[in-house]
Amino acid sequence: METLPAFDLVLFGGTGDLATRKLIPALYRRELAGQLSDEARIIGVARAALSTKAYIDDLEQALRDRLGSDEWDPTVWTRLKQRLSYLAVDVQQPEAYQRLARELRDDSAIQRVFFLSLSPELFVDIVHNLEAAGVATSNAKLVLEKPIGHDFASATATSDEVARVFPEERIYRIDHFLGKETVQNLLALRFANTLFEPLWNRKWVDNIQITLAEQTGVDERGGFYDRTGALRDMIQSHGLQLLCIVAMEQPVSLDPTALRNEKLKVLRSLRPMRGTQAIENSVRGQYRAGAIAGQPVKGYSEEPGVATDSRTETFIALRAWLDNWRWAGVPFYLRSGKRMARKETEIAINFREVPHQIFHDPLYGSRPNRIILRLQPERGVQLDMWMKPPGDAMVLRKAPLDLDFAETDGGRALDAYERLLSDIFRGRQTLFVRRDELEAAWAWIDPIRAAWEQLSDEPRPYMAGTWGPAASSALLARDGTAWHEES
Ligand code: NAP
Repeated sequence: METLPAFDLVLFGGTGDLATRKLIPALYRRELAGQLSDEARIIGVARAALSTKAYIDDLEQALRDRLGSDEWDPTVWTRLKQRLSYLAVDVQQPEAYQRLARELRDDSAIQRVFFLSLSPELFVDIVHNLEAAGVATSNAKLVLEKPIGHDFASATATSDEVARVFPEERIYRIDHFLGKETVQNLLALRFANTLFEPLWNRKWVDNIQITLAEQTGVDERGGFYDRTGALRDMIQSHGLQLLCIVAMEQPVSLDPTALRNEKLKVLRSLRPMRGTQAIENSVRGQYRAGAIAGQPVKGYSEEPGVATDSRTETFIALRAWLDNWRWAGVPFYLRSGKRMARKETEIAINFREVPHQIFHDPLYGSRPNRIILRLQPERGVQLDMWMKPPGDAMVLRKAPLDLDFAETDGGRALDAYERLLSDIFRGRQTLFVRRDELEAAWAWIDPIRAAWEQLSDEPRPYMAGTWGPAASSALLARDGTAWHEES
């Protein structure tokens, strides 16, 4: 495998959850693959008063807990830890950046990557301080984790400030769903096969469903989540990005501009939902006490950091429309929730029925084909077809053609962050969100939230461990259809 270009990677928030659970393991795996150059360095930054040795010891423990014994290799860790150092700095103190400046190498061949893995409220301060310290040089890249802003105005304000220091071609806005194997495979399925693309339109597709279901509650993030809710936390970013990949026109290439232009066109063709339209096309829910995997769990309003009279939604279902030639009249149903019956992220493309049915089988009223793309926890593609089983009777049965990526790739796919970090070092922006996409997504989301406020739409209760409020099923039943797991 090719060696990645040399870097000084500064992990702001280097002791945090994302850094220890995802970023350091991703770098370990690139080390294991022999892709890190001799000139790769990683500087963890946080306020905790740690020595570099203590930081490395903590990371070793976290890595050992995370990696299986088949992946843990002391010689790989020895190589990686030589690249690591730690800087105890409060990012809000401009003078502290001089210490950071001394850690960075003054060599134009060694790129600087500033990865902001901490609260988005700190983004603008950090960018200003990097500039003031003179370290935001022309070989420096900026990586921003979601969420960027909490609405259109705040996202634009952040982007304006960031743009004063970093040009767009050196900003990498992460939506880690874009780094997932199945999303790459959705591109392959659509644009490397002639079979599906002719069917990928209003003539043959009845509806498309995107489900982002979590079993977890709000964990330690109650305060943050209560100010955010499912629409902003999941749909604004992951939900709409998946919608873009499934619905966009074929880009002329995988070039970042070409692909992101197509995604932007999808976002701009989303029909705005205001006032009563937003209420009619959305269902909000909030979980009550229930059970997950047989274990009792608290209700949302009993979680730490959550207001007891909270009106924040932990579940959202939406019916969206794209006003363009390909998709006119095809509903896109999106839903996301916490404390759901299963952890599951999938896209279901439901095709229309055959125009005239010649097979009559009382067991099955309708027999549409369906493609299911599973992102997590399983990764794969399933195509539901109808075939005749052996025997005398002319009856049909569903025959799923199942492509399990874990089997076909030997079980070792790149984690999203491995792919995304490698792309950042190589300077490939295709899988990162451009500013105009971010803003178009917020511009669609904001009126929905405004309608809930103006019309006092309350989240409906649902029991933890279920698929959300009954109104979510009713939203689809009105169109004569059902969520994938119900059909
Ligand atoms: P976290 O666990 O709370 O970690 C925050 C990190 O920032 C810690 O290392 C903290 O260390 C440091 N920090 C906080 N204030 C600081 C300051 N003033 N100066 C220097 N360091 C400071 O957060 P996280 O879960 O890793 O999330 C990081 C970012 O990624 C957030 O934007 C989040 O929304 C996003 N994200 C996270 C995940 C995930 O799976 N965790 C997924 C998607 C997106 P000290 O307290 O010692 O300073």
